[in-house]
Amino acid sequence: MEGKSSLYIVVSAPSGTGKTTMCSELLKSCPNLVFSVSYTTRPKRPGEIEGRDYHFVSKEEFLAKLERGDFLEWAENFGYLYGTDEVAIKEALLQGKDVLVDVDHRGAKILKERLPGGVFVFILPPSFEELYKRLARRGCEARETLESRFARARDEIKEVFWYDYIIVNDDLSEAVRKLRAIYLAEKCRRDRMMRFVEELWENEFINNGRFYGKNNN
Ligand code: ADP
Ligand code: 5GP
Repeated sequence: MEGKSSLYIVVSAPSGTGKTTMCSELLKSCPNLVFSVSYTTRPKRPGEIEGRDYHFVSKEEFLAKLERGDFLEWAENFGYLYGTDEVAIKEALLQGKDVLVDVDHRGAKILKERLPGGVFVFILPPSFEELYKRLARRGCEARETLESRFARARDEIKEVFWYDYIIVNDDLSEAVRKLRAIYLAEKCRRDRMMRFVEELWENEFINNGRFYGKNNN
């Protein structure tokens, strides 16, 4: 029997830090953790899969969803729109799943205000130089977009102070281990385990010692 208090983890980082890589590694080893698949108008990168990495939609489709009030939060990044579907994330939590959310600091702040149960993790690159190299190595952006993503890193990093945890993604496996450790420790927090404690006592009351000899007749 598990304590059923679901949580969601928000992971933010300057573009190119390795957040997507870390998230996909974490998801492989945490069966109860599901990814919150955002909607975006950005074109698909090589290797990305519709419905796994993002829901890739046209600007018209995105704006129609926005008008219907489907997004818990949304933002424009690098000329494209990104949004978190409210029903999808809330349903996953109601079903007892934990949810991993990859959003920028603006989205993270809105989630913190609007949705209880969040743990906020900021991923840092080991240096600005390494960040630039990673952005360039990924090779998905035109030079101009690459520069604007790099320039935005400074603004992103200024927001680090209100997050709960900071991980430096230097060695990838070490960084993923730290992210997993945060998730597992947060699952064990007393407030999240109180439901399990209540169920433990309820079962003891119902069974009244039947299984270990007390009142065994
Ligand atoms: P983000 O989602 O933060 O924009 P990605 O996960 O796409 O970043 O990673 C950007 C690039 O950096 C990719 O080419 C990825 O393989 C590489 N990368 C990720 N983590 C590391 C690491 N710890 N060391 C070296 N390269 C990394
Ligand atoms: P990328 O284009 O590199 O996948 O993402 C660009 C930025 O958009 C990243 O900082 C990422 O965290 C952010 N992002 C992705 N999905 C969402 C979302 O649903 N809402 C917000 N606010 N930001 C998002």
